[in-house]
Amino acid sequence: MASESCDVCERSVRIAGGIGDLWNFAFESTQGYTVELTDGSEFFLCFDCMDRLPDDREPTAEDVTDLRERTDPVDDDGNHFWHWR
Ligand SMILES: [Zn+2]
Repeated sequence: MASESCDVCERSVRIAGGIGDLWNFAFESTQGYTVELTDGSEFFLCFDCMDRLPDDREPTAEDVTDLRERTDPVDDDGNHFWHWR
């Protein structure tokens, strides 16, 4: 299991990684993934932030930047949403 920081909220996100995880892929074990936008840019986003991107059209890099500006970075402590930590 690897982790990566979300490009929007900077939360450290668990991701499935490595060849072993490929065959055991489950949404419960992954909290985010890399999205490739129509303009070719790539961002790593947690599901929370992904939910907040526009869903009535294809999100752009501008939408991600905009969302980041409206989002406070998440502190690692007081992180009760991710209750298993
Ligand atoms: Zn996020």
